[in-house]
Amino acid sequence: MNCPKCSTALTKKYYKGMMEVDYCPVCRGMWLDFDELDRLEDIAFDDDSFKGSLVHRENKTQYKCPACGENLHEFQYRLYDLMIDYCPGRHGFWLDAGEDERVLAIMHTQYDRIKRKKSAETGWKQLLHGLHSFINKE
Ligand SMILES: [Zn+2]
Ligand SMILES: [Zn+2]
Repeated sequence: MNCPKCSTALTKKYYKGMMEVDYCPVCRGMWLDFDELDRLEDIAFDDDSFKGSLVHRENKTQYKCPACGENLHEFQYRLYDLMIDYCPGRHGFWLDAGEDERVLAIMHTQYDRIKRKKSAETGWKQLLHGLHSFINKE
């Protein structure tokens, strides 16, 4: 598969030892299979009432799905000012460099609001730490 943004061949990376992602070594974006964004959220909070209502606004982009070549669409992540590209054929999501951190920051904000138990907070810090080493690895 090739990067939808810069056409570089994507390489497999293991993200925080929990899921395999296709990573662009040039622009540092990453492709997640369709259920993997969900899994990312599951790490930060497991309460389903804070998930869902993911898509608030949707536009077609000029970028192509690395799996099927269809145009990716972008959606607004929850009510925040963050647009994420995804394939309407449910192949996956594209996160530009740093967007995964913003997704996690949003989750962290919600986490603070709902005051999850301490063990969840520890898990969150470990995940954030892992993300940093992942992003800064190359
Ligand atoms: Zn790229
Ligand atoms: Zn696709």
